[in-house]
Amino acid sequence: MARKKVVSKVRTKAAGKAVPKKPSSASRRAAKYVYYFGGGRAEGRAGMKELLGGKGAGLAEMTTLGIPVPPGFTITTEACILYYQKNRQYPQGMWDQVVRSLRRLEQEMDLRLGDPERPLLVSVRSGARVSMPGMMDTVLNLGLNERTVEGLIRRTGNPRFAYDSYRRFVQMFGDVVMKVDKKLFEELLEARKQSRGVHLDTELTAEDLLGLLEEFKALVKEKAGRGFPEEPEEQLRMAINAVFESWNNPRAITYRRLHHIPGDWGTAVSVVAMVFGNMGEDSGTGVAFTRDPATGERRFFGEFLMNAQGEDVVAGIRTPVPIAELNRTMPRVYTELERIYKKLERHYRDMLDLEFTIQEGKLYMLQTRVGKRTARAAIKIAVDMVREKLISKSEAIMRIVPKELDQLLHPTFDPKAPVRAMAKGIGSAGAAVGKVVFTAERAEELFRQGEKIILVRNETSPEDVGGMAASEGILTARGGATSHAAVVGRGMGKCVVVGCGDLEVHEEEGYFRVKGTELVLREGEFISLNGNTGEVVQGVVALIEPDLFPEFETLMRWADEVRTLGVRANADTPKDARNAIKFGAEGIGLCRTEHMFFGEDRIPIVREMIMARDKEARERALERLLPFQRQDFLEIFEVMDGKPVTIRLLDPPLHEFLPKRAELYEEQVELRTRHGDEARIREIEYILARVRALEEFNPMLGHRGCRLGITFPEIYEMQVQAIFEAAVEGARRGVRVHPEVMIPLTGTLEEMRLTRESTVRVAEAVLKNAGVRVPYSVGTMIELPRAALIADKIAQEAEFFSFGTNDMTQMTFGYSRDDAAKFLPYYLEKGILPADPFQVLDQEGVGEMVRLGVERGKRTRKDLKLGICGEHGGEPSSVEFFHRVGLTYVSCSPYMLPLARLAAAQAKIREAYKGDVSSSV
Ligand code: PEP
Ligand code: MG
Repeated sequence: MARKKVVSKVRTKAAGKAVPKKPSSASRRAAKYVYYFGGGRAEGRAGMKELLGGKGAGLAEMTTLGIPVPPGFTITTEACILYYQKNRQYPQGMWDQVVRSLRRLEQEMDLRLGDPERPLLVSVRSGARVSMPGMMDTVLNLGLNERTVEGLIRRTGNPRFAYDSYRRFVQMFGDVVMKVDKKLFEELLEARKQSRGVHLDTELTAEDLLGLLEEFKALVKEKAGRGFPEEPEEQLRMAINAVFESWNNPRAITYRRLHHIPGDWGTAVSVVAMVFGNMGEDSGTGVAFTRDPATGERRFFGEFLMNAQGEDVVAGIRTPVPIAELNRTMPRVYTELERIYKKLERHYRDMLDLEFTIQEGKLYMLQTRVGKRTARAAIKIAVDMVREKLISKSEAIMRIVPKELDQLLHPTFDPKAPVRAMAKGIGSAGAAVGKVVFTAERAEELFRQGEKIILVRNETSPEDVGGMAASEGILTARGGATSHAAVVGRGMGKCVVVGCGDLEVHEEEGYFRVKGTELVLREGEFISLNGNTGEVVQGVVALIEPDLFPEFETLMRWADEVRTLGVRANADTPKDARNAIKFGAEGIGLCRTEHMFFGEDRIPIVREMIMARDKEARERALERLLPFQRQDFLEIFEVMDGKPVTIRLLDPPLHEFLPKRAELYEEQVELRTRHGDEARIREIEYILARVRALEEFNPMLGHRGCRLGITFPEIYEMQVQAIFEAAVEGARRGVRVHPEVMIPLTGTLEEMRLTRESTVRVAEAVLKNAGVRVPYSVGTMIELPRAALIADKIAQEAEFFSFGTNDMTQMTFGYSRDDAAKFLPYYLEKGILPADPFQVLDQEGVGEMVRLGVERGKRTRKDLKLGICGEHGGEPSSVEFFHRVGLTYVSCSPYMLPLARLAAAQAKIREAYKGDVSSSV
């Protein structure tokens, strides 16, 4: 009999604060909330991060490994979750378990919390299951009060040390637990140093510190409305509460939002016996990485400070010393540290980040966790570790975050550079710095003079393409992730920020204003764009240039060995095709032929074609376009040499190619006022009449795609002729040619039948005429929900499908690709949508359309070739989805190919090992 699942009640989120979900079955067991470690034994272990947090699990594991760790205990994340659920009450039994563990700790240390003779001091540390550096709170030196400080003096014979520890405790506890602004403590400390005429904290004497303590306590009393707690158990209780509370402080909430960390994980709290790095010149504290976190080089890397406590190393007041120095000053400690880091790295099979303290010549490890690293280091470490037989190739592949490859393929903001964004839009790819210009012509002009340019427009159109190519980056006020600027800019490998609604762009006048501020930037002023975050920054931000290295190639090769999903590129020109090959494309998945018309010499002819009065006029224009197309196709075939090339017949949103009405009016008025060229005036009148006639309310839903090709068949006929004449010429030159002709925006079977029939007719005529056979196929884009729904019928006429998820997203959601930026940022901020669906595939809606299309298409044609060529083809979570639904390949901009290759390999590995990659070793 099926058992009913017990559904736990979940309170809803309030004001952005996470109310963690009730823990599952564990809370119904006899609950264990506290795990002890010490004396070489631990109740927890490394695999219990979810319960003990990264820090708690690491301390437990190190204890078991026989590594010197000060003893202590960890209160579980589950207790934190229940604390929130029970209106900030501890779960039943937790406090008793804390007290029991505390007694055990006291025994182990032969000290007692609050004992004036032999006082035990502890640290109370936060620790979630993933590292959230600096986001939550920690209290050190807990247990000190007026009596125990005397005991500490007697035991250490070091009053300065004892008072220093005490004032640090009051300062930290006052700030973290009693919420007294930490600036006020700093001010008192500064004032004391000034009055004593010293610069460093360490120059203050015991008497100074004692005086400071009085002032600190008075400050707490005044600001917190109660005295500083003297009773150590009360201190402990308050500190545990504060650490639980810090899970929901604004910093932590923001960090979680940015890193997609669920609000219902909670934090663990580790209570650990204090060891002191500030007990004199044979004490110290430091942090280290088992390999270089910037380059991945295999060398012990870190720094330390003698006579200091943890926060001094991070605070940057005193300059820490490189770790190698420790080998000189305390060789015995250094040797032990070396032995420990090697043991830990072998044990964890990853690069680790360590914290240690030396107390009177004795080494203690305070923390170990997998270390954060740059993308470059991540790859080098992963590849090296495979060679060192520590991990498998699959593990190495899984350790790299595909999105981070961007850091290696494009310039990025130097993480050390200070950055204050003045505006934010939707970003993609890398970073750029340059002088602002507002027209494509100016961009090209200044580029020729050797300037670095950022082209700023309300939106871009084919006329701007030359200027876009001349720019380092492109910034638009309007448009979304699949707008012209985003798609074309990404294809060129440019940093692009679109839909930046914070800006009011005055192209004509040559300036932009940041809305709601006085800030105005004019042509020639510098700005910096961060494509990873969408941030727009005034002035010059330092960039780090990308550089590829051998381990990157190795990792990519391994990814290619594993993945079963094909990767192709969206490439419109021979130059794009060369880039595609460089980044590992196995073919071209989408050649947007309208993009071939972007050249300055071509746009006027395209306009002529679009605005032609009649068929004859159109044919004349087409005749002039044919040689351009033929030449481009031929070069692309040559570059791709035998790899499939999917060429999509014309799909221009016509408005992108039309002259701007306002500009025409302006010219007309100007000519009229100065009685200028009559013929031109009449021409403008004609153009204006045609523009008005062609203008559409919704061009994206209008006369585009195959609708255009069906109503003006001569357009597609010319293109097919150009493709096959190029194919014939290629074949004659000995190039293996394999064109796949793709019909855009098909929605009915009849559309597919008609366009296929005319394609085959023209193709066959060209081939027959030349007496050459070239293998080819005819297929379609699936971009309309209707096309997905009737995919079984469309497959009768189509030999392949390529899902156009840009339009499919637009059509399924009913969000205009060009206008969604008006409301999408609000939707994302409020959590109405989890992600921008034009960037990250909406799997449950748009993805379902894809799944249906695949299933129904295959019903008719088992061997149907299935691709996707929307912008989602380079987005890792979407790539995984495409792998799962059984597509043949993804196609994306050449610069996104490494991401797609890695994401495809990860999808395969996840499927093979059901998430447990370590079993692949
Ligand atoms: C699409 O719609 O996903 C697509 C690839 O076509 P385009 O972006 O050119 O409309
Ligand atoms: Mg489309």
